[in-house]
Amino acid sequence: AQKLFNPLRQFAEKFTIFQSGFTAIERISELMSEPIEIRDRKSSLAKDKRQKTNYTGEIRFENVWFAYQENDYILTNLNFTIRPGEKIALVGPTGAGKSSIIRLLCRLYEPTKGRILVDGVDIRDIPQAQLRRYIGVILQDSFLFTGDIKRNITLGENYSLEQIKAAARLTNVDRFIEEFPQGYNTQLRERGTNLSGGQKQLLAFARVAIRNPHILVLDEATSSLDVGTEALIQDALYRLLENRTAIIIAHRLSTIRNVDRILVLKKGRLVETGTHDELLEQNGLYASLYRLQMLG
Ligand code: ADP
Repeated sequence: AQKLFNPLRQFAEKFTIFQSGFTAIERISELMSEPIEIRDRKSSLAKDKRQKTNYTGEIRFENVWFAYQENDYILTNLNFTIRPGEKIALVGPTGAGKSSIIRLLCRLYEPTKGRILVDGVDIRDIPQAQLRRYIGVILQDSFLFTGDIKRNITLGENYSLEQIKAAARLTNVDRFIEEFPQGYNTQLRERGTNLSGGQKQLLAFARVAIRNPHILVLDEATSSLDVGTEALIQDALYRLLENRTAIIIAHRLSTIRNVDRILVLKKGRLVETGTHDELLEQNGLYASLYRLQMLG
């Protein structure tokens, strides 16, 4: 039940940890409800088929079909291209397939049919470690662990204090960290209970910012965070999105008016695409979801 309750969160906890090469085995097995079975192709283990100069952040889904269980298609013939640097929002009712799209993009599962390309290369030809480093994932409620703030940003990887501070500055979390007497060495309590919701969110941003991924996936918060950090979050987000391709899983439709394009999903099909204004004009599913939220 827990698995269906918030599959995306669970996935990202695993994902961040794998992404970091984090070595606390107990922690990993605690979070893993299933092993990741996807193996690198022999050819992709050896070499990333992309040239560094081709790291544009373009994403393309080509005739993608996907079923968790045989013949029970969750995603049906998806075709779309996200241009380098484009910000798109995925919108649709619960169960429409938004999280599944993200899992496929990160290659936690593979399409049953069709293929997914990043920078023009089939992701099966990109070593998983590379792919996971290339895509930053931010959830509404990120996984913080007991340990100091520094380590919660670096995840144990080798970054200098300067890099840590730069990432914290970019994401507006520096001001909070520097107020703590121990600064970056402040110990976080289990799951970061000595931070506010907004501070935790900013810290999660810093964790991604330091890795400088070309693609950013953001599961937008459903509940509003503390008023004190709302503006700081918007500001940090704006800077974090700059020069990256971004996919935002949008829950509050009011906050995605400014994305370049909205992809509307219904039962695993892409039913509408366009800007906020275009979709309102079309007066279809998006328009009705939007009106519903506005009324609520
Ligand atoms: P969304 O993110 O839009 O709410 P999901 O991608 O989470 O949608 O889910 C799409 C469909 O896939 C739903 O019917 C959901 O029940 C199903 N689903 C999600 N995860 C799994 C899984 N691990 N095993 C089987 N079915 C799943």
